[in-house]
Amino acid sequence: MRLDACPICKSKTIVDFLCRPSVPVHQNLVCCEETRARSISRGRLEMVVCSSCGFAFNRSFDSSLLAYGTSYDNSQNHSPAFEHHLESLVNRLLDQHGVRNCRIVEVGCGKGDFLRRLIKAPGSANRGIGMDPSYEGPASAADGRLEFRRQFFDRNTRDVAADVVICRHVIEHIDQPVDFLRAIRQGLQNSPQARLFFETPCVSWILQNNVTWDFFYEHCSLFTSNSLTAAFERAGFDVIQVNHVFAGQYLWLEAVPAEQPSANRLAGADVVQQARDFGRSEAQRNLHWSRTAEQLRLRGNVAVWGAGAKGVTLANVIDPDRRLISCIVDINPNKQGNYLAGTGHPIVSPNRLREFNVKTAIVLNPNYGEEVAALTHDLGLDISVIDLMEWEQKAA
Ligand SMILES: [Zn+2]
Repeated sequence: MRLDACPICKSKTIVDFLCRPSVPVHQNLVCCEETRARSISRGRLEMVVCSSCGFAFNRSFDSSLLAYGTSYDNSQNHSPAFEHHLESLVNRLLDQHGVRNCRIVEVGCGKGDFLRRLIKAPGSANRGIGMDPSYEGPASAADGRLEFRRQFFDRNTRDVAADVVICRHVIEHIDQPVDFLRAIRQGLQNSPQARLFFETPCVSWILQNNVTWDFFYEHCSLFTSNSLTAAFERAGFDVIQVNHVFAGQYLWLEAVPAEQPSANRLAGADVVQQARDFGRSEAQRNLHWSRTAEQLRLRGNVAVWGAGAKGVTLANVIDPDRRLISCIVDINPNKQGNYLAGTGHPIVSPNRLREFNVKTAIVLNPNYGEEVAALTHDLGLDISVIDLMEWEQKAA
């Protein structure tokens, strides 16, 4: 079904800004065969922005195409920069927000790594329940202070009392975010004092920085701080604050249950103009990236660093036929030896770059540039590491 109104504020003044008719529906699905990688399910990415609240969403999103099963792997925990980000969030929660001696619920906990850190932090005395329908692993850990349930948090989990609810990198995958938040609000009937902390990408950062590779199918819902606030208020929460973290890429929101839902604060005008500008320059920008890769290839083979959503998206946009990019490098051993969703580029460990005769490695997330340069140097590889966003700013 193609949406003609904003799922958050119900406004019909929505503006189309980006259409990619056939993109892989999954970015983090590991494919063990090249042919399977190339024949992965595809869907229509048709991004619109609401001119009332600034919410950006894929109006053609079809959740039935997605399956977050066991071969789904979006862990970034192998990167030192991402480790640092997680540690800084844990310290923020423990020290600034006083999350100690608390009952913590993590909604969409994945493999439970983040919750484990909050429970195991020395002297924290926290206990936790990780909830995720796709969780796989032991039902309890940390001497019983940590429990996992393979289910969602909603009205049926009112037996779970929470002081703190954490939800990181989940809401951007949900096509009806207000319903999702309402379900959490209903689950908190017996926890009126609970505090919520959410993390999700910031669409303003993506648009302002012209990040081609940050629009992809799994992220059907992308927020500004205003639209995220609007969603929480409509679901029955008071928003305490929204900050930017991870060098501006992510929003970090704190909220508490409210007596009543409310519908204030609509402000989408500035993001609409940014989205229009982004959409208008899509074809030109993609051509520019293809030409950049062609130029880099004159020096020797080119690899893209990171077989996550960003790498998958860039490869599919500029190199569907594998003429420009020789391979994708990833430090996650679970991804190595597999093939990239949509294009079938081989995913290799850094040690194999010599074998692929790679002379240039492209980094797509500016937060990882330094660690990639350090790693290739330590491995004694004669490779130029190019942070594509920084390179572009220098060229401009
Ligand atoms: Zn709206």
